Formats: sequence, C-alpha cells, structure tokens
Amino acid sequence: MLKELIDKFYLEQENRKNQLHFYVTDAGKCQRAVFFKFKNVSAEKTDPRLLRIFEHGELLHRNIFNILYRLKIGVTTEVKIPEQELISGRADAILCLGGENYVLDIKSINSMAFRKLMAPKEENLYQIQLYLHYFKIKKGILLYIDKDMQEIKEFVVNYDENLVSQLLIGFTQLKKKIETDTLPVALFDYPTNWQCGYCQYRQICDMAGKQEIPWREFKTRVQLAPEA
Ligand code: SF4
Repeated sequence: MLKELIDKFYLEQENRKNQLHFYVTDAGKCQRAVFFKFKNVSAEKTDPRLLRIFEHGELLHRNIFNILYRLKIGVTTEVKIPEQELISGRADAILCLGGENYVLDIKSINSMAFRKLMAPKEENLYQIQLYLHYFKIKKGILLYIDKDMQEIKEFVVNYDENLVSQLLIGFTQLKKKIETDTLPVALFDYPTNWQCGYCQYRQICDMAGKQEIPWREFKTRVQLAPEA
C-alpha cells in the first residue's frame, strides 16, 4: 500500500537521471558501466531501499555542514566545480583551517567497512583529486562517518598532478568511445571485480564478452531496445 507508493517515488526520481556528461563520482568506476549509462541501456532495477540509504547518507552530510557553520571556520558547502566540457561535480565543502584552504569530501559507510578502513578508498581518492584539480587547491580532507555508530575518521590528501592527468586521460578516452559507439573492454578482472558483483549491467556485459566491440552492431545483434 504505502510502501509501494514510497518505492515507486524513489524509482521514478532515479529514472529521471539520464546521463549527459561525466560526473566526478564516475572516477574509478568501470568505464564500460559508465558507457552503458550514457547509452541509456536498461539497467536492472535499483532497490528503492538502497536509494533510501543514499538519501540517509546525504542527511548525515547536512549534519556535518551544520556543525562546520557553527564552528565559524570559514566554509562554503556544496560547491560546483568550474564549468568545462568534460566533467561536472559538486564538492561537499571548501573550508579554511589554520589559514589554509581544504576541499572536504564526506563519505558515510557502514560499521564493518569503517572498522576495516585504514586508508582512503581508491575511488574516493580519485574523486577528491579531481576536486583539488578543478578548484586549484592543494589539500583535501576525506571524512568518513560510520553511519551506524557515528564514529569519524579523516585522511588528509595532497594534490597529485600525475594521478589527475591519468584520470583526465581516461575520461577523454571514454568520451571518444561514447562518441564513436565503441563499447570499452570489461574490467581486467571481470567478473570477480567487486564492481561486477553490484553492476546493474551485468547481464548485457556478459552477452558482450570481455573485448572492446562496435556498440551498434552488437545492439542490433542482440536486439536491444532503441536508446531513449
Ligand atoms: S559487469 Fe563488471 S565489467 Fe561489466 S560493466 Fe559491470 S562492472 Fe563493468
């Protein structure tokens, strides 16, 4: 009854999000999965429960924003990166500590992952490096919150020019593949990579095989629904 209506609401919100450009959060994601999203390949239905979990994470972020403002340390929240062709994104905050500017990226994770966390997750490092690059700020803070126990861990990150350059090359190459309808290779450790375990495009990826292939030919062969 009411549960069905709430689930439907979350799913409709999610389905409205057609991808037209890269997001900072695509850094570290499987290129093939990002390609599928751009091509509007119908994905396995997202569990509305997961969407509610993401939303709860956003509420935790807002609590931290509130505290930062009350600390009066000089903070701007939800700051969009300067407009350019390739990527868009919004950093959680830029703040000033001891006369130095930092980009802040907040991540909420479950207790088990939090306990194991001894260093920033790779994909989170990629994302904050892109923020540092576009804001021209040399230092960032990755703040992890245990959403079950409310513990906090922080990691200070220094700008890494070489890493950012590799990330931007990766995005540029993927953009070209999207424009030329070339389906990228699967992850080198597909199907055991953790991303494959959660991938909404697993079925179509299995059908395509591991290698790079022409997308339109494949699509016709397997008779996928036309792109929206
Ligand atoms: S199944 Fe794995 S390799 Fe294939 S698209 Fe998904 S994440 Fe990428």
